[in-house]
Parts: sequence; structure tokens; C-alpha cells
Amino acid sequence: MKRLSLFGLCLLMALTTLAQNTLQHPDQFLGYTVGKRFSPHHRVLAYAEQVARQAPSQVKIIPYGTTFEGRQLLAVVVASEKNMARLEEIRTTHLKQIGLRNTPAATPQAANSTQPPIAWLSYNVHGNEAISSEAFMLVLHDLLNPSNAVSRKILDNTVVILDPGLNPDGHDRYVNWYNQMSGVHPDPTPLAREHSEPWPGGRYTHYLFDPNRDWAWQTQEITQQRMALYQQWMPHLHGDFHEMGPESPYYFAPSAKPYHEDITPWQREFQQIIGQYNTRYFDKNGWLYYTRENFDLFYPSYGDTWPTYNGAIGMTFEQGGGGRAGLAYRKNDGDTLTLRERIDHHYTASFATLESVADRPDDIVKNFNRFFEKSLTNPVGEFKSYVIKTANDEGRITALRKLLDNNQIRYGLAGKSQKLVGFNYQNQKNEAVTTETNDLVISAYQPKSTLLKILFEPKSTLEDSVTYDITSWCIPYAYGLKAYGLKEKLTPVAYVSPATATGQGATGSGPKPYAYLVRWQSAQEVQFLAGLLKNKVRVRVAERTFKQGEQRFEAGTLIITRAGNERLGDRFYQIIQQEASKRNIPLIPASTGFVAEGADFGSGSVFSLKNPRVAVISGDVTSPTSMGEVWHYFDQDLDYPLTLIEANSFSNASLAEIDVLIMPQGYGYGKILNDRTLTKLKEWVQAGGKLIVMERVTSFFAEKPDFGLKKKVDKPEAKKEKTDKKPNSDTDESLREYGEREREAISEETPGSVYRVDLDRTHPLAFGYPNGYHALVQNVYDYDFLKDGWNVGYLKKDNYVAGFVGKNARSKLNNTLLYGVQDLGKGSIVYMMDNPLFRGFWYNGKLLFGNAVFMVGN
Ligand SMILES: [Zn+2]
Repeated sequence: MKRLSLFGLCLLMALTTLAQNTLQHPDQFLGYTVGKRFSPHHRVLAYAEQVARQAPSQVKIIPYGTTFEGRQLLAVVVASEKNMARLEEIRTTHLKQIGLRNTPAATPQAANSTQPPIAWLSYNVHGNEAISSEAFMLVLHDLLNPSNAVSRKILDNTVVILDPGLNPDGHDRYVNWYNQMSGVHPDPTPLAREHSEPWPGGRYTHYLFDPNRDWAWQTQEITQQRMALYQQWMPHLHGDFHEMGPESPYYFAPSAKPYHEDITPWQREFQQIIGQYNTRYFDKNGWLYYTRENFDLFYPSYGDTWPTYNGAIGMTFEQGGGGRAGLAYRKNDGDTLTLRERIDHHYTASFATLESVADRPDDIVKNFNRFFEKSLTNPVGEFKSYVIKTANDEGRITALRKLLDNNQIRYGLAGKSQKLVGFNYQNQKNEAVTTETNDLVISAYQPKSTLLKILFEPKSTLEDSVTYDITSWCIPYAYGLKAYGLKEKLTPVAYVSPATATGQGATGSGPKPYAYLVRWQSAQEVQFLAGLLKNKVRVRVAERTFKQGEQRFEAGTLIITRAGNERLGDRFYQIIQQEASKRNIPLIPASTGFVAEGADFGSGSVFSLKNPRVAVISGDVTSPTSMGEVWHYFDQDLDYPLTLIEANSFSNASLAEIDVLIMPQGYGYGKILNDRTLTKLKEWVQAGGKLIVMERVTSFFAEKPDFGLKKKVDKPEAKKEKTDKKPNSDTDESLREYGEREREAISEETPGSVYRVDLDRTHPLAFGYPNGYHALVQNVYDYDFLKDGWNVGYLKKDNYVAGFVGKNARSKLNNTLLYGVQDLGKGSIVYMMDNPLFRGFWYNGKLLFGNAVFMVGN
């Protein structure tokens, strides 16, 4: 008995030691050494789950969603046993301290020095930058190694959250492809096919969006799901792990300029601290790296900036490699870059960064809390309140509310009428504004005020013009809102949803109206229309303004008459009711087809809409994101069928079954657009087809017979000015400095700036824009006005509103065509020089695109 008990005790002790020391290493778990091959997403997660089983007192898995293709998303929390035991308390206390836990007054609580900072590391947001997920497994394992002093310090002083893969659909797209391409030995020859990832590449989400441009807009389901979890934790630090081209070494903080002006001194200082920690480890290992170049802190929808504008220390890490590097890649300098090296660098940067937090936990918590205290008491920016007028249509307001909700920005209603002065975004003037009870009011005195200010700033201050991305994103322009920025502090009252306004008679009871009228105002009416057309409802559209009774209706109003829909019987009412109530769209019943002013419903200037069969060119001639934006718009926004045509089959495809063909931005159209296919397209348009040509693709149609698009020719005055320049004078362009070449190149560019567009509002392409339209201009195409066609959207002389535009680009963006429509035979061609669907966030552009698809050419 005694002996047995002793044996039992020994066994127990042995097992306990085993549990502590035999946390399974990823090499054992995977059956190969990390870095020997790429691991599919499910294996990476399975390893995390294995670790959670083996160390339950220190590891917690939080599943937070599923990708479109059905892959699991999860975050792994790693902490000391002590902190893990009070994890929920740590989280809720933290949120209370920064005013984000739903306490009614939202007052931050006094800082508690025992609160550990939360450090969140995001791996593999770009799917083909696949090393991060491998590094994740090593980081997870080694954080739990009790003999590692740095790990002990990290876990004693911080709570670590690791996301093994933010974009698993993209990750597996890359990994599955790579594993098919390679043999027994990796081929480091850059020419080898394993270094040439096919279109669309693993970088993107299922819908080919760039998930690292989506943090604020949250157009992608994976972003929405992640952000919901992120904002339950509001980490003090966020590290975002990437890869760049294989010839580059390693990049870490401090970031490049420009820094957004609202980045605090503490956040700037911590960029340096992170840099010092990483430098130390990289120097010790003799690894190459660089800092302060390429990756700036400006555009608010990145994995470094969005966290920064939410109080955190946000940063990007970049390893040379990416989708080209495979398992081994021979660089220009003759060295071979291996997968394992790349993994080791991310692993090292992860630890260096966590250590920088673990060494000063109190300081980090204190400064983070200060950011939020200041947000509540003394917010940044000149505007202390924003008023969104109730006169805006419900669709735009609903979309804005969704954006605010997703970013946890609070808002309410004005609650009363008040005469004030504010900055009118639409005309950029300070003027009198009277609030109405139901105007939306957003106060700057709230936890998310820095983010709010940045999303609503009319002009973003750029300290350095060489930036990586668009330089203007102002929400009132993107959403086409009648909005004001006020210097006064307004206190909103609680938000109440407007009453459902769906019209009478639609339920089938009561008198059946002659027709329903729906005002054409924003993207949600496009969704409504798409729903009706899909259900084979015949819809008519008023080409001109009309008046019925006392009500005035703008051009573009949908007129849905019983006449023409008899074959649907009572389903007619059901479909309309259903489609309208889905989106809270007011149906206005009309008892007669006679109008007081304008054209009667039976008139020839009330046109009928088709139920178009729409297709888009996809494949390697297109830019993945541009094609993806069209795809996502039809699939997710409109739920309307779209045929994706593979570019390779375009040349011989019959277009007879297609009514609308979209050619999104792309660099490879030379492969499919030639004299023969242009003739084919022309004949198809003449027979009634509608072609929508976007951005760079327009250049294939410019100057071609029968296509009306023409390049601008230099005006004589401009030529004169040039020849007037004296050779060798200070202004001689050939005397330019080599060191200034990067800066000089951007004088030709507009990386994304806002312009007010002059619209021909009588044309169907511009229906629904009583307040005008602001475009995000990213290209300078320099086209002349159409001589034989409709110049529906154009820029005159001073239409610039915000964002960086190079000086040469700025002059080209005067008197230039942006949206044109050419009628050709029975069909039409829509030329779009910018992309209204860009990143799916320019809400006001979705209506414009809907007009091009459904309204134009009927
Ligand atoms: Zn990346």
C-alpha cells in the first residue's frame, strides 16, 4: 500500500513535470521542421488548439468568425496563470478605464496600476505573405517556455493576443498553389514557376479586397468580425506582420513620414522605442533592416494607423519575401533567401516588440488612458460637433450609422432646433445652420474622438507628400452627406430610429394604388431596384422632374405601375413590400398616372428598365482588387447575378447573352483588346449592348475609329509658355536634382484626392445627386470632352477640394472629362475615368455605378 502510494506520487510528479516541459513543439506537431514547407491554415489552428489543451491555465482560444470560404478565424490569448485567472476582469476594467464599457456617463475610471497592457500581434493579413502564420506557431510555443527569461517577463507583465491568420482564404489560396508547384527540392531560380503566383494571388480576401486597407471601412466580413473582437479588447499595442518584395531586407518602426498630425508625442516616441528593441536583436544577429522609409502613418484604414488613431501603438513589420519567395529564392546579390530565415525574422521582431511593452507596462497603460481622457475632455481638431442633416436620404444615413457603429463612434439626435454656425462640407463655407430635432449629431467629446476627427477632417494635413496611399477620405464627401462641422459642443440626445415609412396599400389590404413611386436617392435604392428586377417586376423611370399633387419628384424617380406587371398577380404587391421593407424604403402610392407638371406615367419620357444580364471581365488582364470591387458590389451589395468572364475566353466568347459588359481597371488588356475584338465590341454595342470601361482601360478605346474618346491636345497657349522658357535658366527642367527624383515623380500624380464633379444632372448617369458628387480622383487621364456624346461628369477649373495632387497633375485636372457616355447604334459606352467602387468605401459612388448599370441607355 505504502509502496504503491509512493509509486503513485512519483507518477503524478512525473506527469506534472511532463505537462510543463513537454508542450508540443510545432516541429513535432506538424511532422516537419517549421520552414520546411508552408502549413495550411487548419494545421496552424490545430496547433494553437493543441497548445491550449496542453496549457489551459495560460492559453485561451477565442473563435471570432468564419471566412466566406468557411475557414475559421480565431485569436489566441496568452498570459501568466495569474492574469489568465482574472482575464475577464482585466478586459472589462480596461474598457471602463477608457470609457468604452457601457457605463452611462462613459467616464473613465481611475487608472489601476495592476492593469497589464494588452499587446496584439496580427499575422498574415495578406494571404501570400505566408511566413507570419509559421512564425506564430514558434512565438506561441516559446512564449510558454518557462526557461525563457524574456518570455517569463512578457507574460508576467502583459496580456498577449495572437491572431494566427487574418485572411485564411488568401493564405490557403497561396499555400495550396505553392505546394502544387514545387518538387522535392525548392528551385531558387527567380524564373521558376513557383515564384510566379498566378492571378489573383493570395494577397486578397475571397472577394479580392485588400484586407489591410479595410480597417476603418470594414466592407469585408472578415474585417467586421475581427474588429468586433478587437474593440472588445482595445489593445495598447498592435503589430501587423507583412512581407514585401524578396530583394528587400526587413522593415520595422519607426515609421516613415508622413505621420498624421494627430499622432501623439507618446505614440511617436514609442515608435522609436520599438525600433531600438528590434535594432538590438537584428544587430546581434547581423541581419539587414531599415526604418523610417516607405511605410507611413497617414491613411486611416491600415493595421498600423487605425490602432494608432484608437490610442494604441500601431506598427507594421515587413520581411523581404512575399508571394514570390517560396521556400527558397535567389536574390540579385547571389544569396539565397530561405523560408526559415524569413520566419526567424518575424519571430524575433515579435519577441523584441513584446519585450518593449513588458519593460514599461505602467507607462503604457498610463499613456493609453491619457489618450482617452483627453478624448473626453479636450478632443483634437477644430470641430467639436458634427451635424448630419435629416434632409439627407435615409439610405445615406443608414450607411453612415453602420460605419459609425462598426468603429464604435457614438452619435445621437439634435433633439431640438438651434441656430448655429458651421462649416458646410458641400460648399466648404462657414455659414448659418439650424439644427432640426432629428438631425444626427456626433459629439467630439467621446472615446473615439481622434478617429472621428480623422474620418471627418475636410483636409488632412500632409507633412510630406510622398505617401503610400490616398490622401483624402473625408466621410461627408465619400457618403455624399449634407453635413456641418461645428466649433460648438453639442450634446446629442439618444438616437431613435425613424418610423418605418413603407407606404400604404402595399400589404394587399386597402385600395390598390395605380403605381408606387420611389425616390432615387442613394445606393439603397439601387439595391431595391436590383431586387425588383431580379423578381421580374417591370419598373419605369421618370426622365424628368415631375409634380404630383403637392409633391415634387426628381428625375430618376422609380415608377412601378400595376400596368405591365399584371402577370405577377398579387405577388406584385408582396415583392414590392418585401424589397422596400428590407431597406426601410418609403413607397409613395399614386392613385393616378396623371401628373400636375412633367410627363404622365404613360409618356415616352418615362422609360422602362431592362432586367440586364451583366458580366465583368476577370482574370489576369484585370487588377484583382478592381475586379473584386465589381464582384463584391453585385454579389454582396445588390445580390444581383453577375457573370465573371475569364479574360482568356473573351476573344472567342459570344456576347449575345450579355446586356452589360464591365471592364474594370487592369494592366493587361493589351492581351485581349485588338482591332478584331474592338470591332466585335463595337458591333455588340451597336446591336444594343452597354459597355462600361473603367480607368486605364479607357486608353484602349481612345482615338480608335467609332469610339468617341479623345486625348486632350496641347492648347497653343500652353505650348507658347513652354518655349518661352530660356535654356539654362533656373526653371530649366533638365537641371533637376537626382536626389529629388522620387519627389519629382509625384508631381505628375494624384494618389487619391477629392474633386467636386460638375454633373449633367439631366443624364441618367447622374440621377439621384441633388447635392452633387465628389469623386476620389486617383488618375490623370487627360481626356477631352466628348464631341459626340454626353459629358456627364467633368472637372472645370477649380474643382479641387482635398488631398495631395502633384503640380503637373493639378493643371491636367482642369477642364477634363471624368464620366462620359457615348451612344452608339442601339447601345452605349460608359467611360469612367475613376473608380466609384474603390475599396467599396466610397458609398456615394455606388449609386453612380448603379446608374451606369441600370439607368443609362434605356
Ligand atoms: Zn502585406
